Amino acid sequence: MTQRRKLIAGNWKMNGLAAQLEDVSAIDALARGRGDIDVVLFVPATLIAPAAARAKHAAIGAQDVHQAESGAFTGNLSAAMLVEAGAKGTIVGHSERRQYQQETSADVAAKAVRAHAHGLSVVLCVGETLDTREQGDDVAHAFVSDQLVASLPEGADAAWLTIAYEPVWAIGTGKVASPSQVEAMHAALRATLVKTLGDANGNAMRILYGGSVSGDNAAELLHTANVDGALVGGASLTAAKFGPIVEAA
Ligand code: PEP
Repeated sequence: MTQRRKLIAGNWKMNGLAAQLEDVSAIDALARGRGDIDVVLFVPATLIAPAAARAKHAAIGAQDVHQAESGAFTGNLSAAMLVEAGAKGTIVGHSERRQYQQETSADVAAKAVRAHAHGLSVVLCVGETLDTREQGDDVAHAFVSDQLVASLPEGADAAWLTIAYEPVWAIGTGKVASPSQVEAMHAALRATLVKTLGDANGNAMRILYGGSVSGDNAAELLHTANVDGALVGGASLTAAKFGPIVEAA
């Protein structure tokens, strides 16, 4: 069986001022004690440089990247800028960007290609809305598998790409997908990865679960088959809340 190293990732979204850098240091200390897993914090772009200066054991990443190398894209950030600021990775395709910035799966794939070209690792998010989930498990599995295939970048490789399954209805809502829902979806995504990328690459790629992960539910979710870590929003904002999730991995 392929051994995949667990990854616990925090997404601070549009939260965090300089005062929260103390939490970066505290989370970095948690990561120091867990050499057997990877820990990454996706902070707002304004905190990448100071967070990277503090973090020695946790990696610091961005929450998005533009697909173009540079140019007339007011307000956007290029992969080269993120690298220069100290980012080691980036999220692409978070449902909030798909929803509020109308990002398509083709955009997401292009962003991942650009990020990788600059040496950034990539966490690529996919997930279904409540409306889709209510049409049944098979519909949800097919929807998310199709979204994954459409979002996969050219040259997708487990060495730099991680998938995050995040049911939209579970993000920031306190509603967590049940372990059996997560297990079934991750199995479907694993099969899709193997079919699309081949046995070795498809089996080596990590699939994280995200959606209201907390210290209370992390242990059960993280010990579900094919769950290779978590992408955590609200509970990643303080070391006190993130600590138990890192511990559970
Ligand atoms: C997220 O933003 O990726 C997320 C999963 O948020 P939360 O943990 O708050 O649901």
